[in-house]
Amino acid sequence: MSVRNDPDVVVIGAGFAGLYMIHRLRELGISVHGLEAADGVGGTWYWNRYPGARCDSESYYYCYAFSRELEQEWDWSERYPGQAEILSYLEHVADRFDLRRSVSFSTTVVSAAHDGDRWVIDTEGGARWTCRWLVTAVGCLSSANVPDIPGLESFAGEWHHTGQWPHEGVDVTGRRVGVVGTGSTGIQAIPVLAASAGELTVFQRTANFSIPARNAPLSDDEAAGYKADYAAIRAVQQASTNGHPFVVSDVDTLALSDDERRELFERAWERGGLRFRAAVRDVLADPAVNEKASDFLRSKIRSTVEDPDVAETLTPRDHPFATKRPPIDTDYFETYNRENVTLVDVRADPIAEITPDGVRLASGAEHPLDVLVFATGFDALSGPLLRLGLRGTGGVALADAWAEGAATYLGLGVAGFPNLFTITGPGSPSVLTNMPTSIEQHVDWIADLVAHLRAHDLDAEPTPEAQARWADHVREAADATLLPQAASSWYLGANVPGKPRVFLPYAGGFARYREMCDAEAAAGYPGFALRARREVA
Ligand code: FAD
Ligand code: NAP
Repeated sequence: MSVRNDPDVVVIGAGFAGLYMIHRLRELGISVHGLEAADGVGGTWYWNRYPGARCDSESYYYCYAFSRELEQEWDWSERYPGQAEILSYLEHVADRFDLRRSVSFSTTVVSAAHDGDRWVIDTEGGARWTCRWLVTAVGCLSSANVPDIPGLESFAGEWHHTGQWPHEGVDVTGRRVGVVGTGSTGIQAIPVLAASAGELTVFQRTANFSIPARNAPLSDDEAAGYKADYAAIRAVQQASTNGHPFVVSDVDTLALSDDERRELFERAWERGGLRFRAAVRDVLADPAVNEKASDFLRSKIRSTVEDPDVAETLTPRDHPFATKRPPIDTDYFETYNRENVTLVDVRADPIAEITPDGVRLASGAEHPLDVLVFATGFDALSGPLLRLGLRGTGGVALADAWAEGAATYLGLGVAGFPNLFTITGPGSPSVLTNMPTSIEQHVDWIADLVAHLRAHDLDAEPTPEAQARWADHVREAADATLLPQAASSWYLGANVPGKPRVFLPYAGGFARYREMCDAEAAAGYPGFALRARREVA
């Protein structure tokens, strides 16, 4: 086993979070090295190359805000950038700030243990790294969730999870393709696959709401307008609930007449995308408001899908709108009007097994397939951290510390795990926000803390009391919304069999959260035990 150099900080992951963390620490003169499983930068946008992979944050704000020059020099081509364009952007960032020299690629971390003095990090290839401070930038949605369906290994066709899509692509022309899953990913991939597959069968467990994206090329005028307006755009994002630069409507939709309300919803529908949520005040707070919006969206499914039975199967009735991450789409519901597309309700007739020929349902019905696509999501937030094999003080495994569910302080650190900082960890706003905004806030906060610890030669970890208080607050914040009503949501860990049901992201809002983090730092980090470094002979 070779022991590598010993930087002050090791950062795991080289997506949006890892790249900016490395940049910030280098700017502060702190030695840092990144370890990344992929053979390139990009994270989500390196791995998720499935047909139709695209952002649903809009391009002008799904990007870094830390460099005015970068903002001005990068040109986005569409309202919502596709996977390849976002990956090019992150590659440009890596080159522009000369970040690649600080990253070891094709290097998967398999364990990291705190030995009382330093973190000792072991990688799949056998290289060992040590460091004083360990920062995880492993993402919230990087741990693919492939369902454990009997017989998968016997399948004679090819199968892929969307989050591990082959770089060379998959030619589905004229082939019989099955898609399991109708979350954001399935809803993006299904129309694109349907356009070239011979036959497409969609295996749907939970019907989903979706809003048209209304993607379009960005005109020169629009792009120039955003660039000229960046200061104001960023200010709105920083003051917002979810990091998007939308001002939430102040209209009381319940006080409107039916016609007025319908007109308001129609305007938001025409504008498209996640702005729809911002157009409906209290949509996640007031069940009556939510029901009006949900009803409107259900009516759109009925008016788009020609076969009334198919429309009914596609109509969500088990969760209020936006309590699961709301997808946005291009021609999703329209796709079910195509002759080569079949919808199968696997809640009514579950998948029993995969056979060499395809999928067999509990009823015995068979669906022969050449290609099977799992758009089945991720072991979100806690999954990528658990896969790191972290061990804290006394050798305690994170898996044991989190046996009852993930617990952190501010989503930034875990009691019993000294000098470990978790970018967009469980208990932070993360996936409820535009993530680059949350990532930058976390990176800046962690960089300041590490600089403070280094200047004063201190170690830090959250106190158990602060962590317990934060867990209570995270629960209260979720319970003050309708979010926990989506029983099968990955926000609750419900998509992974055996995962403890804990509402994982912080639902109290980005601006409020940022203020709490700032107050923690300004008060000298009272939620952390700060200890003078223990010298080991
Ligand atoms: P990631 O991009 O996930 O990067 C984590 C990196 O850590 C990966 O490269 C991974 O290989 C590496 N890693 C993990 N474990 C290890 C290990 N053990 N050893 C070494 N390396 C490891 N967010 C939005 O705000 N808006 C959107 O529109 C949006 N669209 C999305 C679309 C898709 C298809 C998906 C899956 C997610 C989307 N997200 C979106 C969320 C997206 O994950 C974040 O916006 C952002 O890209 C996360 O960046 P990150 O650096 O935190 O994590
Ligand atoms: P997801 O939202 O978790 O959806 C997974 C789908 O697979 C659900 O429909 C789920 O059904 C189904 N499923 C899972 N296991 C199954 C099984 N054993 N049998 C049948 N169906 C099964 O995952 P995702 O679509 O990949 O999206 C995850 C998150 O990534 C999104 O919410 C979003 O945050 C992000 N994302 C964003 C974009 C974008 O912004 N453009 C695109 C893609 C992803 P149930 O609902 O019944 O569990």
